[in-house]
Amino acid sequence: MQISVQIVVQTEVDEQANITEIARFEREGFEAGTLGLQLEEAKALPGRLQRSMIEAQAAEAIARMSVCPECSSRLTVKGHHRLVYRSVFGRLSIDSPRLYQCRCSGSGRRSVAPLARLPLSHSMQCGYVRGRVSCRIYSHGKGR
Ligand SMILES: [Zn+2]
Repeated sequence: MQISVQIVVQTEVDEQANITEIARFEREGFEAGTLGLQLEEAKALPGRLQRSMIEAQAAEAIARMSVCPECSSRLTVKGHHRLVYRSVFGRLSIDSPRLYQCRCSGSGRRSVAPLARLPLSHSMQCGYVRGRVSCRIYSHGKGR
């Protein structure tokens, strides 16, 4: 028997839900040693769930922020760097594009990294710090 654990992400942008398998288990028979989750399998699940959730949230945020709020033009990508997020479920590297601001803003060819500016990253950090576990989000790469 194969047992798949999947998360289903439904965004307001996409009509079709995105299904990601975060774990797959194979079991045969009905014996005490193979019933349910093994300890190592259970330990790995929260980290995989965390990774899938954050990647989905980042993808939606990037899609939303890649469009000019004034004229609805698609913003041009200047480059990418990685944000590293540490949580109790492990370390996660998130793609963070740097986007040129829209020409309609009159700001020339300045660029911004929208994910690096999110106040959400700060609140996630503070929540974990209260639990006395070191968690941070910070940026690697150029152009910050
Ligand atoms: Zn614009």
